[in-house]
Formats: sequence, structure tokens, C-alpha cells
Amino acid sequence: MINTNEILKKYNLKLTKTLGQNFLTDINIIRKIVEAGEVDSSDLVIEIGPGIGSMTCELAKRAGKVIAVEIDRHLIPALQENLSDFSNIELLNKDIMEVDLKSLVDGWEGPLKVISNLPYYITTPIVMKLLENDPKWDAMVFMVQKEVAQRMAATPGTKDYSSLSVAVKYYSDPKIAFTVSRNCFIPKPDVDSAVVKLVKRELPWAGEIDKSFFFKVVRASFGQRRKTLLNSLGGQPWLTGGKDTVRTALLKLNIKESVRAEELSVEDFARLCKALENISPEN
Ligand code: SAM
Repeated sequence: MINTNEILKKYNLKLTKTLGQNFLTDINIIRKIVEAGEVDSSDLVIEIGPGIGSMTCELAKRAGKVIAVEIDRHLIPALQENLSDFSNIELLNKDIMEVDLKSLVDGWEGPLKVISNLPYYITTPIVMKLLENDPKWDAMVFMVQKEVAQRMAATPGTKDYSSLSVAVKYYSDPKIAFTVSRNCFIPKPDVDSAVVKLVKRELPWAGEIDKSFFFKVVRASFGQRRKTLLNSLGGQPWLTGGKDTVRTALLKLNIKESVRAEELSVEDFARLCKALENISPEN
């Protein structure tokens, strides 16, 4: 196991809070994350933010190939040294938000997994990018802030249920694998963490709806959480027919007019999208 303090000293590294640099120092937690990913030699693993490579080494011992994408160029020399024993790691000094995910994995025939102790300042944009641009991943394992894990796995009608819950459930079956104490990191973060695993699922109706319209509807519906769906979605300038269209769709689906976004399941949103498109095909 890499000695984090030693490496930070050797390379004179100052960790950057704004890049979410809280490094894992507990080898048991690292191994549990890799185990949650059920990584084996047929897998390509994308690791977002390898830091100084503590988890990258454990991933490379088990995976066919690891692509590690790290934004901070100051960490690259330490990473190169720490990963030098492995020939199956490709290290990219890039911002994951700028990476074309599909071309990154182009040519790989086996399963694709994304495993990461995510930088917390940018968790949702990264997860949404992976979900919406889907480079054909089979499973994703993320260490995230505990509250975010709860939001990902939340069910309709609960306070944690949000547009992120719907997006995650559109693509996967999310499960919180375990929680992690803040004492397992250097420096110690202000929040507790949890590891969440998303296993890909194909919804039978997914091919029947326009994915970008679906996400537009979900985002708008949760945009003003306190409002009823009639007001939040019905007030969108891009929805032809506005409130009248929403009212007709709800009536057709036998859903009460006072419904709020947090009461609707991913399947309800899919049915709603189909109804909206049928009522106003120009949407
Ligand atoms: N994997 C290491 C570990 O578990 O000890 C470090 C995890 S640390 C929570 C997050 C890492 O993501 C940092 O190394 C940080 O520099 C990197 N990072 C932050 N923003 C990034 C981005 N947009 N693209 C790629 N890496 C990023």
C-alpha cells in the first residue's frame, strides 16, 4: 500500500480542496471498493481521479486494463512512479468532463466498469455525463458523499428522491454497498461518505421514448420542487400547449392534477413523456 504522507512529502504536494482531493488511506476500504466492482481480467476499468494511485494499483492487479483520468498535473510524476510496476494502466492528464467517453473505450470488447472515489465538488455532473453519454458501461462503483448516495438510491415519495434518483434508475439498479468514515481519508473531509454501486439495467420501454425529451421533462419537473407538476412542467416555454398539455396527459394517465415530481417513478415519467408527445407531437 502506498504511504500517502510519504508520497506527499517526497513530491512536495499540497492537496487542493477545490479539486476534491481527499485521498483514501485505508487499504481495506480500497479493497472493498474494488471487490464491490467484481473486477476481473476481462474488464476495462475507468478510474476518475486516481490521486496518487492507491486504488489504481489494486484495480490494475485484477482488471484487464485501467484507464485513469487525473486533472491535476502536479500529481502525474508521483502517479507515474507509483504505477510503474503495471503495464495495463493508461494514465491521462485530463479533466473527465472534457473527455470523449466513447472514443476513450473504443475497441474494447469486454465489460466496462467505472470505479472512482469521486471528487465531491463535481459528483453530479460527472455521474450525469456517464449516464447520459453512456459509453456502454456494465457497472459503476462510486465513493460519494453519503447524502448523494442516498439521493441516488432513493425511492419515490421520500425526501431524498430527486432528478438524480430518476436518472440513475433509468439506467441502473442502484445499491448502497457500505458507508465510510471520514477518518479513512487524508485530509479528513467535512462529510461522511458511502459507496454506491450502479448495475446497468435495460428498461423494456427505453427504446420507445426520446431520451433527451425524457431528461428535459424530469429536470423541469424537479426544477421547482415545491410546485405541482402542472405548474413546474406546465410553465416551460418549450412545452407546446403548456399547462393544458400537462393536464390532459395527467388525466389520460389517471394521475391526480396535484401530483408533484417526487411522487412519480421512472416508469411514470416514461408514460408521461409518451402521453405528452402524443398530445403535442411537435414537442
Ligand atoms: N483516487 C484517489 C483516492 O481514492 O485516494 C483520489 C480521490 S480524490 C477524492 C479525487 C481525485 O479526483 C483527485 O485526485 C482530484 O485531483 C481528481 N479530480 C478532480 N476533478 C477532476 C476532474 N474534473 N477530472 C479528473 N480528475 C479530477
